[in-house]
Amino acid sequence: MKIKLKGIVLLLMATVLPLAAQDVVVYGPDGKLQVSVWCPEGGEPSYAVSYNEKQMLKPSPLGLETNVGNYAKAMKLTGHAVNVIDTVYMQSRIKASRIHYQANELICFLTNAEGNKAEITFRVSNNDVAFRYTLSRQSERGSVTIKNEKTGFHFPDQTTTFLTPQSDVMIGWKRTKPSYEEEYKVDAAMNIRSQYGHGYTFPCLFRVGEDGWVLISETGVDSRYCSSRLSDAQDGLYSIAFPMAGENNGNGTVEPAFSLPGSTPWRTITVGESLKPIVETTVPWDVVEPLYDTKHDYKMGRGTWSWILWQDGSINYDDQVRYVDLAVAMGYEYVLIDNWWDNNIGHERMEKLIKYAQNKGIDVFLWYSSSGYWNDIEQGPTNKMDNSIIRKREMRWMQSLGVKGIKVDFFGGDKQETMRLYEEILSDADDHGLMAIFHGCTLPRGWERMYPNYVGSEAVLASENLIFNQHFCDEEAFNATLHPFIRNTVGSMEFGGVFLNKRLNKGNDGGTIRRTTDVFQLATAVLFQNPIQNFALAPNNLTDASQICLDFMKKVPTTWDETRFIEGYPGKYIVLARRHGNQWYVVAVNGSKEPQKLKISLPMLAGQTVSFYSDGKQLQPQMKSQKIKADGSFQLTIQPQGGAMLVTE
Ligand code: CA
Repeated sequence: MKIKLKGIVLLLMATVLPLAAQDVVVYGPDGKLQVSVWCPEGGEPSYAVSYNEKQMLKPSPLGLETNVGNYAKAMKLTGHAVNVIDTVYMQSRIKASRIHYQANELICFLTNAEGNKAEITFRVSNNDVAFRYTLSRQSERGSVTIKNEKTGFHFPDQTTTFLTPQSDVMIGWKRTKPSYEEEYKVDAAMNIRSQYGHGYTFPCLFRVGEDGWVLISETGVDSRYCSSRLSDAQDGLYSIAFPMAGENNGNGTVEPAFSLPGSTPWRTITVGESLKPIVETTVPWDVVEPLYDTKHDYKMGRGTWSWILWQDGSINYDDQVRYVDLAVAMGYEYVLIDNWWDNNIGHERMEKLIKYAQNKGIDVFLWYSSSGYWNDIEQGPTNKMDNSIIRKREMRWMQSLGVKGIKVDFFGGDKQETMRLYEEILSDADDHGLMAIFHGCTLPRGWERMYPNYVGSEAVLASENLIFNQHFCDEEAFNATLHPFIRNTVGSMEFGGVFLNKRLNKGNDGGTIRRTTDVFQLATAVLFQNPIQNFALAPNNLTDASQICLDFMKKVPTTWDETRFIEGYPGKYIVLARRHGNQWYVVAVNGSKEPQKLKISLPMLAGQTVSFYSDGKQLQPQMKSQKIKADGSFQLTIQPQGGAMLVTE
């Protein structure tokens, strides 16, 4: 990252207004977002956040309790420094391709009762705050264990919540949880017990009444820390919580440790009067840096995967050939071969299958279990990704065959021990020219920028649940209107969706019943962002799906230059626009039971002719050319559990 440091004289003039001896204030570049930090001498450090003079976070605690001293009480703020950050970086795997990050950085220097030093670094852009703690080396101590992080987020009383709970440990399928696959409650009260009593997984969305919105998350988590979450609230105060002792089958510490000098991950607070800054934020990537360069040219794209509709029984040679042929028919780049290939096809015949695919221009992703000793998974291959010796041997085999990526499933939780495994898999995979998708996993935290071969994570109630249980079909549209505001806004989301089967089984004649329309399904191909998309299409769709759908699914890109929130409300509906090159894809879905009649504003399409996709009278997909008015306004009605799209012609 290039940070331009400007002279301190200029900065003091522009960005820092000392209020009192122990108070410092820093604003975002446009002057609306304000962070105040203070520490009464010998007291506890605190901060508060406001936007446009409206309080977004009340005075909230800061500090660390460590095995080398307490940095949360008896503290003294000894000084501060301010820098201006103005940098541009490029990304190919997130919601935008060129990001101009401008922020004012405030570094607060603190000492504790023993005279040991700590810094808290805040970066404040127009709508995002990121902050982290840095501890310096103490004379004899070169390492630290963090016993407890006091960081809190104290919301005003009128706040309501849009949260998903952290689950119990070692529950669910083959004792694989927690895996960020719980349901959301929307517009819920603060101070109620979370479903399991363990608080909430990131990101966490809050509505501060009529004053605005706040999204809390974290970024820059790598092998040097654990992933954290929010506790249950007490009087509106949510605190950073570390993993539970039972995660990872009880193995590994809950207390993260790093060498000194060193820093914690960034805590992030995205703030807006509307939801636009929430949906468009790039803070997860703004404050992290690439951890290694790659010599490989990874290609993003689309894939087919038999497992989603045809399940375990389809992981055989002949069915995989059919899905390779489906990828060819759709003009896709990849096929994903899911669990049990080691058993049902075998490493030797995989060589032949991979050659078959490559001869047709299709590259291969292979599924692996991450475990290991942290669950009871028997789906193979197991015990190949958890050990560096075996992992590298397996990756050399994949590289020798020209396999392009792996999907690694069923991780053990959020402990530092598990973060180390994610990083080792990514690093080894890059050495062997492999991209990595994670399933049954944690939320990615800045990983698209940190790891050049990282291409997405599940960490959501993904498409498989539509197959498993009618309840998730009934809730599909509702859930889809949450992800752009919450889960998917902070990281790539490998959802594995777009079903064109009406019945979610192999024959399209049984199993769960899809409640959403075909155009809704198409819209999710754009609404849900992941740079590699494995779609839930099946070979029968080549003959039984509408040509409108097939033509769209052949063209749809998976990488984006720009993302714009148009309008919506989490749990009700969303209209979102993404640009690929010169082409805009505006997609709308309705999560409610009522039609949504909207007049939307699309200034970037003013006067242009677009393909307008909508649900017909029988909810069948229909498409026609339509000209957008010169003022950029457009009227549309989105059917319940339906969708609409406008695509540049
Ligand atoms: Ca899953």
